[in-house]
Amino acid sequence: MPKLGTPTGTLEVLRKYDFHFQKKYGQNFLIDPNKLEAIVDAAGVEKTDCVLEIGPGIGTLTQYLAERAGSVIAVEIDQALIPILSDTLSDYPNVTVINEDILKVDIARLSREKNGGKPFKVVANLPYYITTPIVMKLFESHAPIDLITIMVQTEVAERMQEGPGSKEYGALSLAVQYYSRPEIVAYVPADCFIPAPKVGSSVIRLTRYEEPPVKAEDEAFLFRLIRASFNQRRKTLINGLGNAEGLAVTKAEAAEALRTLGIPENVRGEALSLEQFARLSDLLCRRETEKKTPAERETKETAPADRQTKEKAPADRREDE
Ligand code: SAM
Repeated sequence: MPKLGTPTGTLEVLRKYDFHFQKKYGQNFLIDPNKLEAIVDAAGVEKTDCVLEIGPGIGTLTQYLAERAGSVIAVEIDQALIPILSDTLSDYPNVTVINEDILKVDIARLSREKNGGKPFKVVANLPYYITTPIVMKLFESHAPIDLITIMVQTEVAERMQEGPGSKEYGALSLAVQYYSRPEIVAYVPADCFIPAPKVGSSVIRLTRYEEPPVKAEDEAFLFRLIRASFNQRRKTLINGLGNAEGLAVTKAEAAEALRTLGIPENVRGEALSLEQFARLSDLLCRRETEKKTPAERETKETAPADRQTKEKAPADRREDE
């Protein structure tokens, strides 16, 4: 039986170790057993699973996961929590704690070393200050991960689910929906945490697609285009793309591509679906390639995978502000 997850159990551990919360690490520990069970249920954790937990804190969710999973790998950045975790998780030999910044961990390698290259289930109450970089890293690392069940700020969870036409729809929505099917599975009030966060929280489950729902000839270009389209939200798409750094597209080329696709020229990025972005990306990417010298084209043709991993996918970072 997990011993943590209640206000008393958590406060006892915090006092025993004279632990002080570090705001810079986004530390809000869960103190509601029902919500903890709900997260593990939503992730469908079973004995055959190896779970990757990001930010175990004092090991609360970790205990619930360890009860049901085959094994748990928990990555915690705060060194002050490591001795606490060896105590709170001492009854769980199936847990491995790694003291590291998740953004620096080679997740594909971790899966090879700890899970024979089989897919992880990621389950976490994420530190909100880096939600987007973590989610993008999980997708872009091309590590085997088939399900991601995470607690995030409600506003961010909603943004992940949004479709075209909404004010909240943006680069994060498109990236998440390119890689996965998002589903909000629970809303969690602030009083379920110590200390209580100032924002509402939600659990969202991202079921990874085996193949993206749309095909783009150059995935890296697609993400550059998406990022450029939302960088200047108030401008029309044509004006945004014409001014965009890192995208060799003129306003005239953007206008021509929109005409070819039968999309009005005064459209804004937030009106385009993922499918429309993929078609626009194919047209503009071909244009960009035509403008390149033979040597530049050669570089692209010989190293596409390399380019794609270096290219950053869109990040919509309002939760960090
Ligand atoms: N899982 C615990 C719970 O639910 O009670 C704690 C969740 S708390 C919201 C986020 C945790 O992530 C903290 O323990 C924090 O120290 C850790 N953390 C913050 N940044 C991190 C990073 N870059 N890599 C790994 N862990 C991180």
